[in-house]
Amino acid sequence: MTEPKPATPAIVAQHRELLDSLPFADRQDFEDAHRGFIAALEPGVVHAADGRVVWDSDSYDFLAGDAPDTVNPSLWRQSQLNAIQGLFEVVPRVYQVRGLDLSNITFVEGERGVIVIDPLISTETAAAALGLYRAHRGERPVTGVIYTHSHADHFAGVRGVVDQADVDSGAVAIIAPAGFTSHAVAENVYAGTAMARRAGYMYGAALERGPRAQVGAGLGQTTSTGTVTLIPPTIEIRDTGEELTVDGVRMVFQMAPGSEAPAEMHFLFPDLRALCLAENATHVLHNILTIRGALVRDPHAWARYLADAIRLFGDQTDVVFASHHWPTWGHERAMRFLAEQRDLYAYLHDQTVRMLNQGMTGPEIAEVFQMPPALENAWHARGYYGSVSHNVKAIYQRYLGWYDGNPATLWQHPPTAAGERYVAWMGGADAVVAKARDSFAEGDFRWTAEVLSHVVFAEPGHAEAHELLADTFEQLGYGSENGTWRCAYLSAAHELRHGGFGTPATSAAPDLFAQLTPEQWFDAIAIRVDGPRAWNEFLRVDVDLTDLGEVHHLTLSNGVLSHTTGVDSAPADLVLRLPSNRLAALLTGQVPPDGLAAAGIVTEGDLGTLGRLMAVLDETDPDFAIVTP
Ligand SMILES: [Zn+2]
Repeated sequence: MTEPKPATPAIVAQHRELLDSLPFADRQDFEDAHRGFIAALEPGVVHAADGRVVWDSDSYDFLAGDAPDTVNPSLWRQSQLNAIQGLFEVVPRVYQVRGLDLSNITFVEGERGVIVIDPLISTETAAAALGLYRAHRGERPVTGVIYTHSHADHFAGVRGVVDQADVDSGAVAIIAPAGFTSHAVAENVYAGTAMARRAGYMYGAALERGPRAQVGAGLGQTTSTGTVTLIPPTIEIRDTGEELTVDGVRMVFQMAPGSEAPAEMHFLFPDLRALCLAENATHVLHNILTIRGALVRDPHAWARYLADAIRLFGDQTDVVFASHHWPTWGHERAMRFLAEQRDLYAYLHDQTVRMLNQGMTGPEIAEVFQMPPALENAWHARGYYGSVSHNVKAIYQRYLGWYDGNPATLWQHPPTAAGERYVAWMGGADAVVAKARDSFAEGDFRWTAEVLSHVVFAEPGHAEAHELLADTFEQLGYGSENGTWRCAYLSAAHELRHGGFGTPATSAAPDLFAQLTPEQWFDAIAIRVDGPRAWNEFLRVDVDLTDLGEVHHLTLSNGVLSHTTGVDSAPADLVLRLPSNRLAALLTGQVPPDGLAAAGIVTEGDLGTLGRLMAVLDETDPDFAIVTP
């Protein structure tokens, strides 16, 4: 049985309870999500140049009417809202295209042309959105681009809306918060492979769309899969209160570094009385720690920036909008929305820290944590993307780390060894599966998943355990209010039934690689050194980047490739002299040792050194197993 199954009575009962407890009669969000509608993209499909579909809004047409048993009704509602697609007026001169990617693209009309805020993930969806805008607002030239923050869903479609030549000539300004470029590319340097594999689970990229499959990701429906690009900013914003006028449009900025993204900013259009909150106030409880994995964010700073936004800009604001979801209109409503978002992140932070100081651990706090009733019933504060459960554990992790203080968990066996012992003590795999069937029937899917995971790790060939664990994850997915949890559970069920799907749709983007600094390149190589294989190697390479006038000294010793710059009298085994734009080709192995001269790389010393270094580098694995050993 590899097909998706119906919802069990336990899940149906859980959904019914939620329908009674949440204010489904409140339809304000639907009104707001449709407000100012001008036109939709028809059909709602965007193709790449080779004909491949990179975005398909129409695949979500099934999101009509009441929620089916297999979808949490609160998530169903959120997905219906996120699937609303088209060009909308926010206020005269400010327009958004929503529902053509995970994020929104916003157009602000100036004296000569139009300023683009956050050009989506792919050039194809960004170009389609600009086309839709121009079809209804005229052929205005793009006169500026603003990146609100350093996440790819806010910049990667940029070459779909501007040409490099217009940036180089100064005709188009590219504006971003300080630190934008290094943060935009940094995630790819270190844990990028693991994050991309896990992101496949989080967004359900390998799943079909439908009532028993992917229904949305809470923040938006899903990610587009087109061409990823980056044009670095030409103007960096550094200070709160900084003002800028582009194409006659006045803007006042507020820096918000280390909030939802490491480089992020808010800004007000004072003449339009419109405030852009980047991604710090959207219609979800956002992630303090995304489940694809990342560094833990700071909810305390996040709340503080929202408090400051109200103080700095509140009096001049009649509408707030962000780069996900729909705007909130009217001064009173906008301020209440911002105050509730501020309190949401502050309450999460303060109460988690209060409880951890009483000795509670992450899972214990998560289990009892309750939002104040006003936030519990505010649709924009629901956990469609972040969740109270995983955010609370993230805050615990931020302050106290992975260890809960109980030495019983200080030195546990890893999953396979633990699984073998649990299963042996519980009477063998068949006995555990039989007991798990009872727990499944009782609707205790959390426990069923835990014990069956032990069986799958202890006996990877146990077909019945695989099948029942897949069914269990599926019920957990059907029950999830959180879009990313649902995707993760259903992706796990899919892999148990059909085998691993690896990392769907990785787009190696030359634009991103081009922005890596030499330090980031050497870091990227250092984390690929296979330690044990390199234990007995010792070598030194000097890399002279001739255009920058920088010499980088690399030393491999004890399985570590360390890196310094500046004066160093230690003799190198090999000196490589090259312009910095050849570094990528050299370090990714595109230039073989006998092709260095032809590639414009001058060498001095023992050329064999380079081969010895390359020989200890490991490849990353984009197909690693997650739910099986
Ligand atoms: Zn985003």
